[in-house]
Amino acid sequence: MPSPTRTEPGRTTTSNPNRRLATPRASSEDALRRMRRQRRRDTAPEIVLRSALHRSGLRFRVDYPLAGLRRWADLAFPTERVAVFVDGCFWHGCPEHGTAPKANAAWWRDKIAANVARDRETVVRLEEAGWLVVRVWEHEAVSHSAPRVASAVEARRRERARPAARAARAKSPVRDVSTRHGGSPSET
Ligand SMILES: [Zn+2]
Repeated sequence: MPSPTRTEPGRTTTSNPNRRLATPRASSEDALRRMRRQRRRDTAPEIVLRSALHRSGLRFRVDYPLAGLRRWADLAFPTERVAVFVDGCFWHGCPEHGTAPKANAAWWRDKIAANVARDRETVVRLEEAGWLVVRVWEHEAVSHSAPRVASAVEARRRERARPAARAARAKSPVRDVSTRHGGSPSET
């Protein structure tokens, strides 16, 4: 998604410059909720990546629920256990484009720092469960990200051909959930 306007969060959707919400905190939370709702699915960078991968013959799941994490992978290859996240530059604190809004700066900084911490935790927990995690920045050219994903899947397929790796993964404590949950995973 495009970065939210870098002005006061409470003003992002109104053309009336005099409109003020009760408190900076409330307006930030309101803006946050609005943007979260818009976020979940089908952002432009995700669609571009999905198309490129699909063209190259890869098949995957979209918005795949990850058991025990209350998180969804933007794309997943469950057989190969490769999870792909397409991270928005604003929300995930991109070092190149992740500037915080000036109004309520501390509040936004905390929010984004919490997202970054959560992203790290997600990677750790997925890796513990035997997943290979690929994180793609929203700004990353698809000519770069698609081959990264493809080679992760390829590496996993080679690895799976080895019996020892299969046995190790079978002991993994965390298992996939197969039920639909929140988003609707679909074959592409
Ligand atoms: Zn970026």
